Amino acid sequence: MITLSSIHESVVGGAASFESTLEKQLGTITSGARINAFISVTADRARESARRADLELAQSGGRIPASKPLLGIPVAIKDNLQWAGSRTTCASKMLQEYVSPFTATAVMRLEAAGAVIVGKTNLDEFAMGGSGEHSAFGPTLNPADESRVAGGSSSGSAAAVAAGMVPVALGSDTGGSIRLPASFCGIVGLKPGYGRVSRFGLVAFASSLDQVGPMGATVSDVEKVYRVIEGHDPLDSTSIAVRAPIEHKGPAGLRVGIPAEFFAEGLDPGVRASVERALARLKEQGAVLVPISLPNVHHSVACYYVIAVAEASSNLSRFDGVRFGSRTDAARSASSLEEFYCENRSLFGREVKRRILLGTFVLSSGYHDAYYGRACQVRELIRQDFSSAFSKVDLIASPVAPAPAFKIGEHSQSPLQMYLNDLYTIPANLAGLPALSVPVEPHSSGLPVGLQLMAASGGEDLLLAVGRTLEVTR
Ligand code: GLN
Repeated sequence: MITLSSIHESVVGGAASFESTLEKQLGTITSGARINAFISVTADRARESARRADLELAQSGGRIPASKPLLGIPVAIKDNLQWAGSRTTCASKMLQEYVSPFTATAVMRLEAAGAVIVGKTNLDEFAMGGSGEHSAFGPTLNPADESRVAGGSSSGSAAAVAAGMVPVALGSDTGGSIRLPASFCGIVGLKPGYGRVSRFGLVAFASSLDQVGPMGATVSDVEKVYRVIEGHDPLDSTSIAVRAPIEHKGPAGLRVGIPAEFFAEGLDPGVRASVERALARLKEQGAVLVPISLPNVHHSVACYYVIAVAEASSNLSRFDGVRFGSRTDAARSASSLEEFYCENRSLFGREVKRRILLGTFVLSSGYHDAYYGRACQVRELIRQDFSSAFSKVDLIASPVAPAPAFKIGEHSQSPLQMYLNDLYTIPANLAGLPALSVPVEPHSSGLPVGLQLMAASGGEDLLLAVGRTLEVTR
């Protein structure tokens, strides 16, 4: 993997230029094309910004200006984030021709900090999935073992970092989509707390859960990107004001909650062993491990798959080929309005259709209270579980996923099996809390394993400080 700090060191030290660094990275992207990490590579645009970055560096006397912490750094963007002039496909046939007329706030902030955007990465269609296999552009392969999935939905962003194509990338996380692929690929991923990073320009999946966040080779690289993208944005009414970063020394004296429910049946023994070794290191560094219980988290998957599909069915209703989305030839010659809609909406893949159908059902009259209303009440109970836990502990630690990356196609026949992978990541989304995935010692099979750290609202700095002491980079 390549890191942001190593690029700055070699360019500032005169061993390379941003332009030559970019060419090298474009070479890695081309030679790793079979990984299928990218949907579009924007090489010419990237070359132009790398040249500009070299000029800016020369003008600032060879030093990285404080206002440009990402100067010249190649960055990849998940293809559900708008970037003016680029295709934003959401890995769907529905948007395969769509060119963004505007730029997402998070992407705009990256560019303002000097980043060189190299392209848009593969994902599960409309971010619905946990493996990276539900993409109209084909699955992303895991660079750690190419017969396995990269994890989803931010599959391409994780694989691009793990394969050394870029040091950092943006992803989005609705139920685990930053943390799960980060853990499967052996990189770092941060899901900020709800409202910390603007979602303006993120194609909405489930608006009460979606968050944009950074992925990268190291905790310190992820932190640098997070500092750039966080903060209030008047264009996103759910975004909240940025606070000054809080200094944390690391694990000494911290109380770390170990929830029994996250270490129960179904956890792969090799994952458990890697996570327990990381917890032992936390203890050696002076943390106190406190057994806790989150009694309602076992409802999380059921609760999420009602709320997320309900919101998705509403958010995706705009893609019907009238104003938004592609119009098929068959729709053009349709003889009724119903046929017109059916033809256009047949462009969605199977998983997206399944979610829209489920979502429409749980919101339909007569069922709304029994499903959606009920799920919202359960969500409140899960939130309360976390707030009472955080009155006793500073952090909560768990595995990111019950097992390491699985074989491509292994769970394709069973959507339920696929949904169960989100068991440990979904609770933080339901409660709106920040959560970090850090690579720890690999599984006995050699596959990467991620440790998840969750904090109370506003605890991103604490997560990063502790994560830094635990990460094991490949
Ligand atoms: N795997 C989960 C889902 O399919 C989460 C996806 C996400 O976080 N975007 O809904």
